[in-house]
Amino acid sequence: AEELLRNADRLAVTGQLAAGLAHEIRNPLTALKGFVQLLQSSRIENKAYYPIMLTELERINFIVNEFLLLSKPRPASFKESDIRIVIDHVVTLLETQAILNKVRILTEQVIDMKPIRCDENQMKQVFVNVLKNAIEAMPAGGEVTVRTERTERLLTVHITDQGSGIPEDLASQIGQPFFTTKENGTGLGLMICHNIMESHGGKLSIASMSGSGTTVEIELPYT
Ligand code: ADP
Ligand code: MG
Repeated sequence: AEELLRNADRLAVTGQLAAGLAHEIRNPLTALKGFVQLLQSSRIENKAYYPIMLTELERINFIVNEFLLLSKPRPASFKESDIRIVIDHVVTLLETQAILNKVRILTEQVIDMKPIRCDENQMKQVFVNVLKNAIEAMPAGGEVTVRTERTERLLTVHITDQGSGIPEDLASQIGQPFFTTKENGTGLGLMICHNIMESHGGKLSIASMSGSGTTVEIELPYT
């Protein structure tokens, strides 16, 4: 049963990412198509297009690589990591989707970040899930802030949205397997996050006011 649930977890994350993947690569593909058509129709070759086309290709390459990394099942691998880079990758991965939803993702990272032991792939899954929830909580758009802080013993990431918030009577059920308020939700995202944070000796907590947004706090201990 344990193993089945793990497979379900992985499928849920992969499914959520797959839905986003289409959005993510559609924009650079459309841009590339436009440039190829331009080059085809003009008699003079315009070299200025090539660097832009390369940038778009690199973006598609990056997104597909990240997607493969996140969806492949692998044993946990802990190493000293710069959490700012992990966060930047996830923000880049979700940027197109955010823009399509009129959401701006702002990051505020402390400068003297100390490397922390974690499984980067799993931490990416945590940030993907929490950021997706933030975007989905703001159907009319808004801002998400990702703020990173640290003390001697703790690294904390606050992810704050301006969304619908969580009604008080539902708070106790949030994070339970399969609990979702969304038409196409799986109700597995936060459960996966809780599991991952637990395996890191850290925790995830949610503070929300119905109607005025949500803050998810992710804590990792320095060991
Ligand atoms: P799913 O996103 O598939 O519904 P999750 O486990 O990620 O599953 O989230 C469970 C539920 O928690 C969501 O359906 C939603 O009701 C609530 N929730 C999570 N994050 C937020 C948020 N940032 N703002 C409002 N509600 C949230
Ligand atoms: Mg979710």
